[in-house]
Amino acid sequence: MTAQTPADLTRPAPGETTGWITPATTGGERLDGRGTVLLTADRVLTGRRGDAAGSLEVVGDAPDDDARMAGAGGAVLLRRHRILFVGTAAEAETHLRERADLLADDVPRVDLPGTTLMPGLIETHDHLPTSGTALEYPDYGAHEVARLTLNATRAARELLSVGVTSVQSLGARHYVDVAVRDAIRNGDVRGPRVVPAGPQITTTGGHSFHAGAEVDSLDDIRHQVRLHHKMGVETVKVMSTGGFMTGGSAPWNAQFSQAELEALFGEAHRLGKWTAAHAHGVDGIANAVRAGVDYVAHASFITAAGRSQFDPRLADEMAEAGVYVDATVTADMPRMLRRDDSFAPPARQLWEHGVKIVAGHDAGIPGVPHRAYVGGLEALEWVGIPRNEVILAATSRAAAGIGLAGVTGVLAEGFDADLIAVGGDPREGLGVLRDLRMVVSMGREFVPDALIGVPVFDDPESSIGLGPIGPAATLAHWREHEARALRHPEV
Ligand SMILES: [Zn+2]
Repeated sequence: MTAQTPADLTRPAPGETTGWITPATTGGERLDGRGTVLLTADRVLTGRRGDAAGSLEVVGDAPDDDARMAGAGGAVLLRRHRILFVGTAAEAETHLRERADLLADDVPRVDLPGTTLMPGLIETHDHLPTSGTALEYPDYGAHEVARLTLNATRAARELLSVGVTSVQSLGARHYVDVAVRDAIRNGDVRGPRVVPAGPQITTTGGHSFHAGAEVDSLDDIRHQVRLHHKMGVETVKVMSTGGFMTGGSAPWNAQFSQAELEALFGEAHRLGKWTAAHAHGVDGIANAVRAGVDYVAHASFITAAGRSQFDPRLADEMAEAGVYVDATVTADMPRMLRRDDSFAPPARQLWEHGVKIVAGHDAGIPGVPHRAYVGGLEALEWVGIPRNEVILAATSRAAAGIGLAGVTGVLAEGFDADLIAVGGDPREGLGVLRDLRMVVSMGREFVPDALIGVPVFDDPESSIGLGPIGPAATLAHWREHEARALRHPEV
């Protein structure tokens, strides 16, 4: 007997009828993640480096329709949630006919002319429970856990709607990111693969203590890492320095000693976790890197003078250690730097010193909506990272940078089927990443939502919304309710 997947269990067995259940609909999805399908496009960007310096590997390249019809384009063969084969369209047809386990003629084909197939995009630094707009840091009162969970669910859909198929959640209260990860895995809701960190680990009263887990002693640290493990996190994130968003916290000061971080990362690694450190100042960066961290967020090299002051020796040490760094270059960075360049993130210098830069935007904090992902990539190019490097930073290197090496971020046999089709060739301009023609997450297509912004219902005539406040509004609300009830038919 073969193992059944959850998808099988929702389908009737052959010959079985379930007339009392409304049959499944496709919802506009061309790939349901269950069968085998061949995708063809003008070309495939695999997410690997090319042979020539600074180039990207391309499979197939059809300059026009005739070449594409002759099989010169790129193709990706999927079965369920995995990639079976990547090659030119002609090679894929040959491969299909040579496979004994498939009837080539029965495999559906989806042709995407004018597009490039490439790995799904990856956000390595996200805060799912908030929207990234200025209006959302409310006190949800008794509904806090439920609302943060719903917010995170909304953020996950938003990310998938802009082509992000994996996200590292670097800070979420109440472990709501763990619950959202499981709900997505289970097929309850749609979203990218989530690598959750739960609440950030910080010192008592330290950066982000409102939303984090406070520890002080080595025993505290070990206990908290084990608790995070018990609660299901995949990344353990620590606040190695202060931050800008917590009153009384100094971003240039370290919050933990190297020995404390060694205990923290050592315990996390022992439990098979990925590790991430928020670090602005050089002491906090150095402590984290020397203690064995995998990923550093920010690395702004901020000093007590309030300016970013790059330290080339520390950068060399970071490169030598092989840590991944998001320099948190966000979509509005060019605008901010024109006004005041004192916080200019040293992304270009880090890259020149061989540090592995990945795309990470601290999305979800005010001013950084999740949907600004592609704008963040354009900003990374604007600060001096070559475009092809930005594409690697958003795909294969980002996957390795969040502990998913060999899993996603590359279009090759055996990798998970996380991919996008974009109109045009992203090597000619990152803006084409906004022209999504197909989004596939774990082999299943996702039809992107229309992103109209976070709505605020303040219309008293609306039957949805926050409700009226004050005596006159309360009275009007009750009268309105009665008047509307009178319109209803006799039922
Ligand atoms: Zn963050």
